[in-house]
Amino acid sequence: MPKPMHRSGSFKKVKRHTPKGRTVTHYKRAKNSMPHCAICGIELNGISLSKSGGSSRRTNSRLFGGVLCANCTAEVVKLGSRVERGDIKLDDIGMKQKKYVLQLVAH
Ligand SMILES: [Zn+2]
Repeated sequence: MPKPMHRSGSFKKVKRHTPKGRTVTHYKRAKNSMPHCAICGIELNGISLSKSGGSSRRTNSRLFGGVLCANCTAEVVKLGSRVERGDIKLDDIGMKQKKYVLQLVAH
C-alpha cells in the first residue's frame, strides 16, 4: 500500500526496474498546467512555468497580466471606458467580463 501522501492524484506513478530485477513504483509530482484566460479559456502567452528569472519573465506586467489574454483585456478596457462615459450600463455587460470591468472602474 502506498503512503497516504502518495495516494493523491497529483502524483504520477513511474515503474522502475532495480539492478536486481525488482520492479518498484516511484512517485513523481505532476507538472503544473499552463495558465488560461479567465474569460475565453485560451492558453496565456508570455508566461513561463519555471521559477528562474525575474518576475517579468514569469508573467507579463500588463493590466490583468497572467489572468486575461490580450484580446479579452482590450475588450474589458473598452467596456470600462464606455461604462465610465455612460454610453452603456453595467447590466448590459456579460457576466464574465463584468467582474473585470468593475475592478477597472473602481480604480
Ligand atoms: Zn481571453
